[in-house]
Amino acid sequence: MVQTSFSLNGKIALLTGASRGLGQGMAVGLAEAGADVIGAGISDMSDTRRQIEALGRSFYEIKADLSQEGAAVQLVDDALKKVGKIDILVNNAGIIRRNESEQFSDEDWDAVINVNLNSVFRLTREVGKQMIKQGSGKIINIASMLSFQGGLRVPAYTASKHAVAGLTKSLANEWVSKGINVNAIAPGYMATDNTEALRNDEVRNAYITSRIPKGEWGTPADLKGPVVFLASDASSYVNGHVLCVDGGWMSS
Ligand code: NAD
Repeated sequence: MVQTSFSLNGKIALLTGASRGLGQGMAVGLAEAGADVIGAGISDMSDTRRQIEALGRSFYEIKADLSQEGAAVQLVDDALKKVGKIDILVNNAGIIRRNESEQFSDEDWDAVINVNLNSVFRLTREVGKQMIKQGSGKIINIASMLSFQGGLRVPAYTASKHAVAGLTKSLANEWVSKGINVNAIAPGYMATDNTEALRNDEVRNAYITSRIPKGEWGTPADLKGPVVFLASDASSYVNGHVLCVDGGWMSS
C-alpha cells in the first residue's frame, strides 16, 4: 500500500538546528511519521523535545557547534553511541549575514560558509560512511530560493546555497548505487527568525508577499510533508532533486 511507504516507523533521523524554525517543524513532521529524532545544535531544544515526546517518540539532544572544525566527526560519534544507526540526515542548520557586498567582511563570509556549506559537507561525509555500511540512507539538504537566484545583500548566503544544490547532485550521483538518496528542499520565504529582518522591513515585506503567488509567507509546518516524502521509501527513485516549497515563487 502506498500509504505504508511514507511511514518512518523504526527510523532514526539526525537533524541539525532542531531548536526552532524550519528545523523544529521538520523534526516534528518526521516524528509524526514515526521516526525517533536526534536534534543537534547550539540552542535550547526543549520545546522541540516536548512536541516530539508528546507524540510518543524519542528525542535525543546533542550539543554541537557546527561552525567548529571537528564538530561533525564528534556529532556522528556521539549519535552512534546513543542510538547505533542513522537512517535519515537533515542538514538544516544555517545562518545569514546581511550587508552591501562592498562592505561584506571576511568574518561574515567565513561564518556563513562554515555553517552553511563546510559543515554540511563534513557532516554528510561522516554520516555517509555509516549509511554506506548500513547499505541505505536518506539525506536531505536545506537549500533556498537563493540556490537559484541572487538575492540582495547576502553574497555569502547565496554562494553557500548554490553550493548546497551542487553538492546535493554530486553526492546523489556518487551514492545512489550504495542505497542512499541525496536530495534537497528549497524553502521559499518562510516566517522564522532567519527572515525576521526582511519581515520587519515594510517595503521588502510588501514586495516579497506580493510576489508569492499563494500570497503569504510559508511556515515551518509547510515542510513536514516534503521532508517526510524525501525521508521515506515513497521517494526511493528520487535522486539529486532540489524540491521547491515556495508557494509558487519560482514559477512567478
Ligand atoms: P532559524 O534561524 O530560525 O534556525 C536556525 C537553526 O540553526 C537554529 O536551530 C540554530 O540554533 C541553528 N544553528 C545556527 N548556527 C549553528 C551552529 N553553528 N551550529 C549548530 N546549529 C546552528 O532559521 P530557519 O529559517 O529555520 O532556517 C533553517 C534552514 O532553512 C537554514 O539552512 C536556512 O538557510 C534555510 N532557509 C530558510 C528560509 C526562510 O525563509 N526562513 C528560506 C530558505 C532556506
